[in-house]
Amino acid sequence: MATQCARWLLLALTLSALGCDHDKDTAQGQSAPSIVPAEAPAPTLKLPADSGPPPAFDGDRAMQYVKDIVKFGPRPVGSANHKKVEEYLASRLKGDQVEDDVFTADTPEGKFPVHNIVAKFSGAKDGIIVMASHYDTNYPLRNSSFVGANDGGSSSALLLEIANQLRGKPRDGYSIWLVWDDAEEAIKPDTEMPFEKDSLYGISHLADKWKADGTSKKIKAFLLEDMIGDADLNVDRDTNSTPWLQSVVFEAATRLGYQSHFFARSLPMEDDHLPFVHIGVPSVDLIDFTYGYNNVFWHTPQDTADKLSPKSLEIIGKVTIETVRILDKMDALPPK
Ligand SMILES: [Zn+2]
Repeated sequence: MATQCARWLLLALTLSALGCDHDKDTAQGQSAPSIVPAEAPAPTLKLPADSGPPPAFDGDRAMQYVKDIVKFGPRPVGSANHKKVEEYLASRLKGDQVEDDVFTADTPEGKFPVHNIVAKFSGAKDGIIVMASHYDTNYPLRNSSFVGANDGGSSSALLLEIANQLRGKPRDGYSIWLVWDDAEEAIKPDTEMPFEKDSLYGISHLADKWKADGTSKKIKAFLLEDMIGDADLNVDRDTNSTPWLQSVVFEAATRLGYQSHFFARSLPMEDDHLPFVHIGVPSVDLIDFTYGYNNVFWHTPQDTADKLSPKSLEIIGKVTIETVRILDKMDALPPK
């Protein structure tokens, strides 16, 4: 997760902890995000009936993938460890239909090779659902022991386990494309460079490419996973995401009895979904941006696998798959 708003969030949380009235702060024109208790979104959509057993997802196996990834150490773009994790992901996707999107990014620290990995699972229904996770680790922290177990590791592992669940099974629903995107993290510390000018390199490239070749018109939903392994799981309601798609996610969570982990707090997230939001693709960011008290583990060497739990991975994995199952059965999906 790379976001400038994080600093605002920490400020807002601190003010909140001190008993300050953040609503008053925002009313005075400051740009800190308002953090308000979110109500469960009222679905105005016609949703298909709940049917079938809950989806399968092996949280322990996903957790093992997190540990495998973390073992490579820091994985910033352009590093030898980054190359190793690319090879690791490819090895787990052997036999799948995998496409590589490789290009050179021009960054404030020079040119870097960027490598998005896309695994495609075909469905009978016309249209595509994309699930994405970044797999690079924060570049400014490259010389520390930062391994991004939650930030980059958890969601990349989650998609590997979702691939296991999709593999070898004919799909009646939409095609699913799993995207491990690269160079999400800012290259410069966000105190030195505006977030929007120095981050999201890989996913922006894919959004541009898929807009240019017409693919984006076929994408029914973009589901982003980020920082979803925290043992204390509280997924935020991102106000930059598409409300109707959040309603479907919440419905999926409710059907599985996991709704108490979702959407208690609202805040705007600047994350990998934004390039797809900007080209008109319905998008949702599933992110828990309270990683430790006041998000204290985020972008620190304390972002380690012991803070995560297989159960959290299972909850997010199952809710994601259930979301797709609902989308597959809906008569028509809103365009935005
Ligand atoms: Zn990050």
